[in-house]
Amino acid sequence: MNQEVKVEPVASDFIRDIVEADRESNKHGGRVITRFPPEPNGYLHIGHAKSICLNFGIARDFGGRCHLRFDDTNPETEDVEYVQSIMEDVRWLGFDWGEHLYYASDYYGKLYAYAEALIQKGRAYVCGLGQDEFKEYRGVPSMPGKEPPRRNTPPAENLDMFRRMRAGEFNENQYVLRARIDMASPNIHMRDPVIYRIRKCPHHRAGTAWCVYPMYDFAHCLSDAIEGITHSICTLEFEVHRPLYDWILDQLEVPCHPQQIEFARLNLSYTVMSKRRLLELVRNGLVTGWDDPRLPTIGGLRRRGYTPSVIREFCRRIGVTKFGSLTDVALLEHCLRDELNRTAPRAMAVMDPVRLVIDNFPEDRVDLLDAVNNPEDPADGTRQVPFCRALYIEREDFMEEPPKGFFRMSPGREVRLRYGYIVQCTGVDRDPATGDIRAIHATYDPATRGGNTPDGRKIKGTIHWVSARHATGIEVRLYDRLFMLEDPNDVPDGQDYKQFLNPKSLEVIHAMVEPVLAEAAAGQRFQFERKGYFFADPVDSKPGQPVYNQIVPLRDAWAKRQGRG
Ligand code: ATP
Ligand code: MG
Repeated sequence: MNQEVKVEPVASDFIRDIVEADRESNKHGGRVITRFPPEPNGYLHIGHAKSICLNFGIARDFGGRCHLRFDDTNPETEDVEYVQSIMEDVRWLGFDWGEHLYYASDYYGKLYAYAEALIQKGRAYVCGLGQDEFKEYRGVPSMPGKEPPRRNTPPAENLDMFRRMRAGEFNENQYVLRARIDMASPNIHMRDPVIYRIRKCPHHRAGTAWCVYPMYDFAHCLSDAIEGITHSICTLEFEVHRPLYDWILDQLEVPCHPQQIEFARLNLSYTVMSKRRLLELVRNGLVTGWDDPRLPTIGGLRRRGYTPSVIREFCRRIGVTKFGSLTDVALLEHCLRDELNRTAPRAMAVMDPVRLVIDNFPEDRVDLLDAVNNPEDPADGTRQVPFCRALYIEREDFMEEPPKGFFRMSPGREVRLRYGYIVQCTGVDRDPATGDIRAIHATYDPATRGGNTPDGRKIKGTIHWVSARHATGIEVRLYDRLFMLEDPNDVPDGQDYKQFLNPKSLEVIHAMVEPVLAEAAAGQRFQFERKGYFFADPVDSKPGQPVYNQIVPLRDAWAKRQGRG
């Protein structure tokens, strides 16, 4: 029943407008080729999903293609584990790169040749300044920098030095290759940026073939050009790198000159998104792993019970802009409820059970009551729910002295048991020592099967229940926001974002559930009536013994704020 919901077409945005105009003017022969370029140094998160939907979505909408390229130029932090997970996540989100899987590391030979070409043109030089001197020579934006000592060395000498760097003759950080641009540029990225460095560390794909590695700014534009990318879409922080992107491509003979276009990255409230912080949470055991259902990682969202279509719909609704902002996580949850309301079958689970005994219901009798699986989806049919003399209801659905407006169970009052009968509470049994309620007693009206009242009397409250004899106790994991602070990326001075972790972000309870929930296969989603949406955990569930993750509670704060619901 967890079928995917059709996604509405994507409205235009400033990037699609550029692509459209380029196509009309035949800029790249009418071609549209985009790429999603993750660095394999962590797991993908929902911010990456925004970029994935954008890049693959544009390729799809304009009859082009989107490459998956691993931007793997940093041997120290990258790993095949991440490569695998990234491919899995992109596929799970519903996108396909076909045969266009690339690695920047496959271009090392070409990139090295481009670097030599730059040197030969007198546009790059080997620099031996130490870290402090490097900064000192570079200066600050408001003041021009100084010419580094080796800046005007002849190309032949630089070529020789660069080849010796490549041959492993020097130590890490002893020399770097720098582009020779402008030490007085107001843009610090143009003050002879480093384009190659020495790293004596094996690479997860290239092994020990190289000990010089290209920097991101050098590798990225050239990888784009090598692949014939037409529109190189990236996040806003690269706006200041764009002059460098264009400079490098202008200096060299490249097959094409892609256009870099920047958009604002996604930030979500009550969570962190930087890979460095996610890694820190995982490494310090503050969450259970990369797929902890509280994390905004794709693996975490998947494990929580999100569907790819919900994530795509969310990305469609947020759109793309040039302005950074904090997106309310409630919007994501709103998209989730919207879909699950349509697709998730309903069932009854009692989270905090108390016994309800129907004293006038025969001891051995079992009534099989018809229950609608999904009122939003008639095709989902009905099921039979067993009803007996002893049931469980929610402790909070009973009040001995109800305040005004409480229409659930209380002494002397009638209440409807969902799909069942109208019952009237007759009293309670208490533990003589503690005073706690051990059982609630009631009588049922046999004429009200299915919850109808033949005499038309009004019953205000309806509560859910399970048959005690047929119920199974199962583990349910209730999740709350991982952080207590709306923007944990912006913590007060001198404080650590980890201080704002919500100590109650996970609560494990044991619920009593109706048979259909106990029999559910891992990976199934349900609405627990009156509670929320739940997902049979794909890792910890066993046949006949599912473990449920709360995907989201029923209450929709976002729709409320928008004046709907
Ligand atoms: P790092 O934190 O290591 O810089 P990153 O989050 O930028 O990493 P990459 O692997 O370089 O991760 O990202 C791949 C692509 O996803 C890039 O094009 C990047 O711009 C985009 N991206 C990353 N984070 C977000 C985000 N929060 N919103 C939108 N796009 C994002
Ligand atoms: Mg990055």
